[in-house]
Amino acid sequence: MHLTGAPDLEWGVMNSSSHPISRRTVLSAGAGTAGLLVTTSTVGATSAVAAGIPWPKLRKSLVGTLYQPSTSAYAQVAHGTNPRYDGINPKAVARCVSTGDVAACIAFARRYAVPFTVRSGGHAASGWSTGTGLVIDTTLMNAITIDGAARTATIGAGARLIDVHRATTDQSLALPTGTCPDVGISGLTMGGGIGPMTRLWGLTCDRLVAATVVTADGKSQLVNPTRFAGLYFALRGGGGGSFGVLTSLTMSLDTMPAAIDSYSLSYPFSATPSVLKGFQSIVATADRRFGVEVQFRAVRSSGKINVTVRGDWAGPQSDVAAQVDALVTAIGVAPTTRSILHQSFVSSVLDHAGCGSFGSCVPGADITRVPGSATSSMVSTPLTDAGIAVFMQQLRNGLTVPGQTYTGATLDGMRGAVSDTTTSDSAFAHRDALFMVHYLARWSPNTPALDPRPFDQYVSGFRNAMTPYVGPSAYVNYQDPLIADYGNAYWPGTFDRLRAVKTNVDPTDLFHFAQSVPPA
Ligand SMILES: Cc1cc2nc3c(=O)[nH]c(=O)nc-3n(C[C@H](O)[C@H](O)[C@H](O)COP(=O)(O)OP(=O)(O)OC[C@H]3O[C@@H](n4cnc5c(N)ncnc54)[C@H](O)[C@@H]3O)c2cc1C
Repeated sequence: MHLTGAPDLEWGVMNSSSHPISRRTVLSAGAGTAGLLVTTSTVGATSAVAAGIPWPKLRKSLVGTLYQPSTSAYAQVAHGTNPRYDGINPKAVARCVSTGDVAACIAFARRYAVPFTVRSGGHAASGWSTGTGLVIDTTLMNAITIDGAARTATIGAGARLIDVHRATTDQSLALPTGTCPDVGISGLTMGGGIGPMTRLWGLTCDRLVAATVVTADGKSQLVNPTRFAGLYFALRGGGGGSFGVLTSLTMSLDTMPAAIDSYSLSYPFSATPSVLKGFQSIVATADRRFGVEVQFRAVRSSGKINVTVRGDWAGPQSDVAAQVDALVTAIGVAPTTRSILHQSFVSSVLDHAGCGSFGSCVPGADITRVPGSATSSMVSTPLTDAGIAVFMQQLRNGLTVPGQTYTGATLDGMRGAVSDTTTSDSAFAHRDALFMVHYLARWSPNTPALDPRPFDQYVSGFRNAMTPYVGPSAYVNYQDPLIADYGNAYWPGTFDRLRAVKTNVDPTDLFHFAQSVPPA
């Protein structure tokens, strides 16, 4: 059994119930529903989906299965991975098995003005891949085909990261992704995709060479640099849920390294100023084969704040000690513990995922769902002493949040290959970021229904306290309903172009939620 929320893993989720929701009132003009008043929301548990929607028609048109509350196994498919949103019960979940199924769902939703949302891995921080209407679920569209000669993988939209690693490494190839085993490749890619190999190989979205998308008109389109070039731009950093339903992705792969050296350093909390300064200078200057992140975990039960600096070196084993020495020198304080593990690339992937093996890390079976809150900052200039002091105080404040199993922040080192691509090439807007801060709070899986507001207030307060020092930019893959000017926070410099793309592919804003990209 693996904990999605194990302390060394990245993640976090925000609560929809305590935040404004997207809601539209639609007077359906669809045949058979003339005059039907439908209040739509892609998010809220409180929205009403009108009775009288002819669900049997949708069921008949699908090759996959339509689950409703009366269907056996509904409970197994109704929710995403964060149990805090389990109170939101969709009227129907369409487990699609083909692009045709997805197109049928879109046609049905249009015709009967049914509110819908799209789900792949179900990790949306905001809960915005669930809702009270129709959930279009791609989970079963998870086939992966590797073309060894072309060094590409064509991946069904429902595949999870662990599936992708299993298939690619089996052919001695690899894709840069995030760490969590059951995050969906779709959501990860559309928002960016940051992980241990980011500095060397770039973001996951930088590997997208083609995609299949069902657009608002219900048509399935091949998207690549020359076909629907605007949509191709948007799929690489523009976030999920705004432009259509992604049904498959073709990604370019790298040669899997024969081995990786994974290092870990621990420090006392009092060394935080030195740790942060050393981290910031290494991220800006180190060999891009040297990955680095810093984890701060405030554990109320122990009263301690643990500090770990860790990463992977993808160069020759003979050089790893010198690389780690350079980091320790930049920090200027001797670590309390230091370890370096020479291991296979597959072992490093499994370590990051918190998995013993591929076979014992099956999404939906082996991975425990853990409730949590999260938000983020994208940081392009080093923190000053004043910023570091505020950061430390916020970490200390986390120790007082009742019910937490831990609170804290993870700083993921960036630049390297991230800055090889520009904001005119793709919608991912943070090409000059030094690092991403993921603020997080988690509580016990045994108390999923705990009031999430104190946790949301904590992570949001942390981000707000840091904003004067790091600026307002944020990572769309940690959707935060409390960020009011989300367009400029997620996509500084690319938002206008995203809006123009939206106007082209979805002028009536069918794909709409509280932080979707609006038409221009
Ligand atoms: C435990 C955990 C660990 C994480 N680790 C990392 C990490 O290491 N690195 C990193 O960069 N990020 C990480 N994230 C953030 C993660 O990348 C985002 O939450 C991502 O959006 C999840 O994708 P998904 O397919 O699982 O989510 P979903 O909840 O299914 O979808 C996310 C968004 O995309 C939309 N969407 C989903 N499928 C489709 C589709 N097929 N077509 C169009 N729109 C769609 C949804 O409507 C929703 O708005 C983590 C999150 C969690 C919870």
